[in-house]
Amino acid sequence: MTDTPLAPGSTVGILGGGQLGRMLAMSAARLGLNCHIYCNEQRSPAFEVAADHTIGDYDDEAALKKFAKSVDVATLEFENVPAAALAAIAKDVPVFPPPYSVEVSQDRLAEKQFAEKLGIGVAPYCEVHSLEDLQDAVEQLGRPGLLKTRRLGYDGKGQVKITDSTGLPEAYESLSGAAALYEKFIDFDREISVVVVRGRDGETRFYDPSENRHENQILAETRIPARVPGTIAHAATDIAERIVSALDYCGVLCVELFYCGEHASAPLVVNEIAPRVHNSGHWTLDACAVSQFENHVRAVAGWPLGTCARHSDAIMRNLIGEDAENWLALAREENACLHLYGKRQIRPGRKMGHVTWLRELRRQD
Ligand code: AMP
Repeated sequence: MTDTPLAPGSTVGILGGGQLGRMLAMSAARLGLNCHIYCNEQRSPAFEVAADHTIGDYDDEAALKKFAKSVDVATLEFENVPAAALAAIAKDVPVFPPPYSVEVSQDRLAEKQFAEKLGIGVAPYCEVHSLEDLQDAVEQLGRPGLLKTRRLGYDGKGQVKITDSTGLPEAYESLSGAAALYEKFIDFDREISVVVVRGRDGETRFYDPSENRHENQILAETRIPARVPGTIAHAATDIAERIVSALDYCGVLCVELFYCGEHASAPLVVNEIAPRVHNSGHWTLDACAVSQFENHVRAVAGWPLGTCARHSDAIMRNLIGEDAENWLALAREENACLHLYGKRQIRPGRKMGHVTWLRELRRQD
């Protein structure tokens, strides 16, 4: 692989065609780079804004090879890309982030073990392969807790909350035998996340931690800056630094954490590592000169990284399902930066767009 930056006119391949791919492609276009989207769904949001697209399955070797040969570098916008697809593409073209980092984040157990090895706190957990395992785990860690599938979980999918009244056999059966973890419920003060970008040469930059509020386990709102002490913001950033360095990462990565209070025995607990641009970083499109999307493109294309400083504080709200019907009123608001993803059908729980309100930057200590 060469470390020469890709010249304008080069093509960045993106696996996945959702809104993250769409916003990546729009940022790449700003830099004069073309995007070729590979996705297994017809009419994906990213297709409309990219130079080229391929509709293909993630196990279609011939289609993946053709795609790889048509691009100068490949990246992804969702972490559940099959490892074999990444390996197939990597034969013909550099892939960033490194496939190993994607594999780690695809499996909640591997992710927790990776964090633990770095001395980073995670929620106490037990592996669950049977109903007996679950019964033992609940006895050991207590209730409430969360039973989570190891793989293919996002936005609360593949998760069951175990409360005092939950029957364990029903909870276990609802996962249809998938390998799982039982995780202690963390009584956190706030959820925060750190979006970090690392270049091919190892240069690392961070956006300030944001504060996230979830509804029904889906991100509803992000505010920047997070309302946490400066020491905690530094500690969160340090965790993100250790993670990208250990992965020899390239591109944008997001670390989601629970903040449990300054005096808790473990003030910060890592919940998830996402090896991609992230919903909690959407505010960077409007509040920063260089967004997470542009910085990801810069990193994978071997360009110098852009600033992660913001010119404004911000609140970002997702438009989920019918929220998107409010588009005209939002478009009338002077201070609202509206983003719609071009999805034709509104469905409950579907991310249709987001809106960011900018506020005057307040200096923090
Ligand atoms: P996840 O799919 O693991 O990112 O979980 C989605 C959301 O569920 C998180 O952002 C939290 O709001 C909540 N959640 C997940 N795990 C826990 C936990 N161990 N304790 C408390 N809340 C959790």
